[in-house]
Amino acid sequence: MTSMTEHALMSDPGTSGRFGDYGGRYVPESLIPACHEIEAAFRDAWADPGFRDRLTTLLTVYAGRPTPLTPAHRLSRELGITLLLKREDLTHTGSHKINNVVGQALLAQRMGKRRLLAETGAGQHGVATATAAALLGLRATVFMGERDIERQELNVLRMHVLGAEVVPVTTGSRTLKDACNEAMRHWVASVDDSYYCLGSVMGPHPYPWMVREFQRVIGEEARAQCAAELPAAVPDYVVACIGGGSNAAGTFAGFVDTTARLVGVEAEGGAAATFGRAGVLHGFRSLVLQDEHGQVQEAHSVAAGLDYPGIGPEHAHLRDGGRARYETVTDAEVVRALVRLARTEGIVAALESSHALAWVIRAAESGGIAPGSTVLLTLSGRGDKDIASIKELL
Ligand SMILES: *Cc1c(COP(=O)(O)O)cnc(C)c1O
Repeated sequence: MTSMTEHALMSDPGTSGRFGDYGGRYVPESLIPACHEIEAAFRDAWADPGFRDRLTTLLTVYAGRPTPLTPAHRLSRELGITLLLKREDLTHTGSHKINNVVGQALLAQRMGKRRLLAETGAGQHGVATATAAALLGLRATVFMGERDIERQELNVLRMHVLGAEVVPVTTGSRTLKDACNEAMRHWVASVDDSYYCLGSVMGPHPYPWMVREFQRVIGEEARAQCAAELPAAVPDYVVACIGGGSNAAGTFAGFVDTTARLVGVEAEGGAAATFGRAGVLHGFRSLVLQDEHGQVQEAHSVAAGLDYPGIGPEHAHLRDGGRARYETVTDAEVVRALVRLARTEGIVAALESSHALAWVIRAAESGGIAPGSTVLLTLSGRGDKDIASIKELL
């Protein structure tokens, strides 16, 4: 086992792609060369100021970065803390996912690929991928479970409007994990002209590392904004919600070398960091929700974007070493948090993001966060998409 001190935390995991006991590259033999090709292309691109400039320009003139840091004045007063919101909800398409897909689409283009493949559950990553593909003149093929297609009609329509092909997956439970399997199978068959655009810090190396690097912009901006805003420069807590863990990883990367306490918040019904056991899922080793026979379990959450039975491997490593901690909240707490933020600050956050807020509210009200503390919370996305689904819960 690699000790926590061997590499600086949240740095380059090297060619093995391992974060302690986790990560790696568990894919069919036929995909190993494709993973090597992407790793080499990403290393080359990430060291190239020209690539970095193009990405920064697109994130600025297209995606709306830098996003503001908004002090939540009224809610802060109620909770007796200073709460700062990093506003990923204000990006183009309304969530942090755009940071990752624009980065990967630029990389695919640089590699001479003409098509992006993606899997999607709730449809948010599919829409983001379709968006980036349209921006750069690439084709997009999105795999989506048949059941999810029925449940997420609006996002399917958005993908069609953006020119993407949506392929229904009819195997297994006909949801996200089946769509992941199908997208991987398809990638094997079309690797010459297709690039697999993964939606979070998961999958085989180099994806968990690469996606964290594309999301690092959240943490770096927030670090500079906190330095300007807070007398102590660094907040006491840095909090983000966790599905696969990309908005949290990007946020934590900006603060991992500080004294800030890092907290990832999962849905109780999808809490791989809390209830998972080590296992291999979709090309990487991490903490995975499984039954007593090692069968992967379905995750359930009021937030479709958190319905994933695993967690990014780097989070598993940060948990084991104690640098970050992982908490769970219930659906009921999440809906209450969404409404409370809306009514105190005039911001309707995504249900996913509201998980992070639900934990902050509970901790501040129970003394888990000391009065007077400063808390940075990444508001990963906007909640317009969720209003209809919570109307019975209000
Ligand atoms: C997809 C999504 C998430 C979960 O993804 P992570 O990789 O864990 O960040 C969180 N919030 C929003 C708004 C999303 O769309």
